[in-house]
Amino acid sequence: IRILVIGNGGREHSLVWKLSQSKHLDRIFVCPGNGGTSREVKTINVDLPPNDFPRLVEFAVQNQVNLVVPGPEQPLVDGVEKHFRKVGIPVFGPSELAARMEGSKAFSKDFMARHSIPTARYRIFQADQFDEAIQYIKTCGHQVVLKASGLAGGKGVLIPQTEEEAIIGLKDIMIASVFGSAGNQVVVEELLTGPEISVLAFSDGYTIVPLPAAQDHKRIGEGDVGLNTGGMGAYAPTPVATPAIMDQIMKQTLRPTIDGMRREGFPFVGLLFTGFMITPSGPKVLEYNVRFGDPETQALMLLLHEDVDLAEVLLACAERRLDSVSITTRPGFAVSVVLASQGYPGNYTKGKTLHMLDMPSGVMVFHAGTKASEKDVLTSGGRVLAVTAYGPSIENAVDLVYKGVDQIYFEGKTFRRDIAHRALQTGAA
Ligand code: ATP
Repeated sequence: IRILVIGNGGREHSLVWKLSQSKHLDRIFVCPGNGGTSREVKTINVDLPPNDFPRLVEFAVQNQVNLVVPGPEQPLVDGVEKHFRKVGIPVFGPSELAARMEGSKAFSKDFMARHSIPTARYRIFQADQFDEAIQYIKTCGHQVVLKASGLAGGKGVLIPQTEEEAIIGLKDIMIASVFGSAGNQVVVEELLTGPEISVLAFSDGYTIVPLPAAQDHKRIGEGDVGLNTGGMGAYAPTPVATPAIMDQIMKQTLRPTIDGMRREGFPFVGLLFTGFMITPSGPKVLEYNVRFGDPETQALMLLLHEDVDLAEVLLACAERRLDSVSITTRPGFAVSVVLASQGYPGNYTKGKTLHMLDMPSGVMVFHAGTKASEKDVLTSGGRVLAVTAYGPSIENAVDLVYKGVDQIYFEGKTFRRDIAHRALQTGAA
């Protein structure tokens, strides 16, 4: 099998690492890849613009690629799948229609309403309905969350503390267009409370195989303070997701989502990432993503049993025969800690040399914002590395991952010491 992976993050590196162990593998091409993907066996980085789909297709045909794995949401929302479908190359990822579940929050909220999937109460407002939106906020009787409907790089959600702040937020999105065209539609929804979890599930449009639930850490600062980031760390499984909760999630959300999408004519093929808040009245959906999460994926790739042939699993999804493969996970815990550049998520430094001492056995270092220079590896992005470890208990995994973190040095190295704190402190989050 010859695979083309699109993307350059830690998520993609961890996918490439797991894919590279496939017994069916001939070669992996990563476009554009990073300083870590280029070092994996049978893997080469391809220097093509990742958003130029016709050129990617031409490359894939010339190089006899028989599976395409887009990492980030943008190419999926932009319809990359149909370009490869036209030439008969299977894609592990949803069609443009199915990718609306992430690309438009208004679309996904209406979908959930049609299928009675538990989620926060909401109203959708168009660009010219500013006055109606204000009126709604004043009369709905609950605290609200404001969401730009389109893709905003994880930044399009505002949680105002007061009615005045909510009105300012609405003005920012609807009048000042701070999120650009992503704010052409606005979802105003009920504020929910409770711990958050992420459930990543494989699907071929019929069968659903969820992985153990993960928890990520969005804020830059320890104790979950400061600015939002792409994610500073994750661990799985989280004790919040008891078997009873996972059962509820499967019955009330995952099953109706996959069946509903198929019946409405846009079956979901790929990795469905559902973000939940576990509220006092049960799990409710915060959002759908139509691709692997970063850094949840880094932890989950280590949690997958070593016998799992990921290339076979992804191909089975693309070929609508997920029920023919087995996906098992190891019994312990995996933790991933992101090392970021100084200043991230604001302006950050770049071009710093990475110094890595020997890693303790079982620790993986997945690269994100790095690039290989002639003799060194240099930092080139906000999130630089995701150090990831597996252990039989959460304490072992955390201990091991930070031993790995302490073996790495680069100027301005920024990370959180408290990844998985919710699981460590209480035994549940
Ligand atoms: P991501 O970066 O995960 O893709 P996003 O910008 O697509 O995020 P959401 O996941 O919908 O947006 O929301 C971001 C965060 O805002 C959530 O992780 C959650 O903490 C908070 N949030 C969203 N909706 C609600 C809600 N209804 N009640 C409380 N908090 C919420």
